[in-house]
Amino acid sequence: MTTVAPDATPRSAVRSPEPNLTETIIRLLADNNIPAESIHDVRRTLAAGQVYLNATEQVRVCGDGDTIAFFEALDVVVDHVADRRSLKPLRASFDKLNAEITAGAEPGHYPWCVPGECITQTWDDGETAIEHVGTALQPILLDGAGAKITLHAQLGSDEALFDDTPTVYLYADDGDALLLNTDRLDASIRELSAFVDGLRAMRRQMNQGRRS
Ligand SMILES: [Zn+2]
Repeated sequence: MTTVAPDATPRSAVRSPEPNLTETIIRLLADNNIPAESIHDVRRTLAAGQVYLNATEQVRVCGDGDTIAFFEALDVVVDHVADRRSLKPLRASFDKLNAEITAGAEPGHYPWCVPGECITQTWDDGETAIEHVGTALQPILLDGAGAKITLHAQLGSDEALFDDTPTVYLYADDGDALLLNTDRLDASIRELSAFVDGLRAMRRQMNQGRRS
């Protein structure tokens, strides 16, 4: 039986570039009369790989769950491409996962509907429309003196509306609700993500003393 020596480098650690690796590759290419433009492309590709590895490490340290999951998925794709393996099995497993999620939904409902929470409206002429209701997120922000801000976000869709595309309802305390379509939700995610990054920066600054 073949034993595999344990890899001394944990997978999560940033692998520093082999100091002379890039130059070795470039020299080999030059020695083999590879055109300068191609060598430039290779330099950029190697640099992009290094930037990617560093970004991955930063995400593992500071990222949120979704971003980490995204980079982990990218890692699997990178491994497949590096080993020249087909990406088709990945696509197949994604489709299978998607089918399993969809299979869990009741007929006429979305996979994200909370069972029993959707509301069916019936009009006098017998027409019905369903208001679909997803899970609510409700983070509560508290200070030490009893003040609080409650945020609410929930995915929903109302078949009675002209446009029943699923929309996220977002509001704070008793303020006006925002109805966010995909574009506006993407923009809001970017804003909130920058906000949380800023909070993390403030948290780090709280440990800094005054300059003497
Ligand atoms: Zn529903």
